[in-house]
Amino acid sequence: MDTNSCHKCGSNKIIPEVRIVDYGHMNQMRDLSIHIKTTDNIFFNKFEKGQLQANICGSCGSIELSVHNPHQLWEAYLKHKSL
Ligand SMILES: [Zn+2]
Repeated sequence: MDTNSCHKCGSNKIIPEVRIVDYGHMNQMRDLSIHIKTTDNIFFNKFEKGQLQANICGSCGSIELSVHNPHQLWEAYLKHKSL
């Protein structure tokens, strides 16, 4: 994607690659992420994880999400699909 301008309003006020976090126990920050299982056990499944990041438009507030490791996630998806 073009990270220099907003796909919605065309503004160039883009805040790039912002972490998206959730607050867990004791206000501990945790990155929100994609979770794809690669095994089909009842317990202890392996999974591939992809941390979400956002490009935020400083004009209209539109947010575009992406991950750093699309190839690993795709591989994990294919693997789980064939189980
Ligand atoms: Zn915008």
